[in-house]
Amino acid sequence: MAWYEKLTIVVVTVLLMECFAWAAHKYVMHGWGWGWHRSHHEPHDGAFEKNDLYALTFATIVIALFVVGVRWEPLWWFALGITVYGGIYAIVHDMLVHQRFGMRWVPRRGYFKRLHQAHRLHHAVKGKDGGVSFGFLFAPDPARLKRRLSERVDR
Ligand SMILES: [Zn+2]
Ligand SMILES: [Zn+2]
Repeated sequence: MAWYEKLTIVVVTVLLMECFAWAAHKYVMHGWGWGWHRSHHEPHDGAFEKNDLYALTFATIVIALFVVGVRWEPLWWFALGITVYGGIYAIVHDMLVHQRFGMRWVPRRGYFKRLHQAHRLHHAVKGKDGGVSFGFLFAPDPARLKRRLSERVDR
């Protein structure tokens, strides 16, 4: 495979993963998978939460893809794309927004501030239903999210 084919697979996979993560978060984690995800919406003391089982599940799937990908190259690069997304997600979601693993930086401007606010607003709703902002890297405008949240409360 040519380098640009590999690069295309990785970049497209990262973008697709954002769509997949949005759908999985909205329909699975806030649906029948709430049992694991609830821990992420509740305060806790421990270093780990039950929600981390999702990361573990995805990691297991990706390892399997790498193993099969040894025999079929495009799959290997697809698995790498998922890994890159997972890495970005861990750094931005877990470390930046939730300040895990000792990261203490609150972005004051630009894209990261927007992303930070959008995800904070996702956590403004403690329960399973009625949340906003299920995506991650494509952060919607926080002002719009706030409006949607207040409309929800008024009803
Ligand atoms: Zn959630
Ligand atoms: Zn979160």
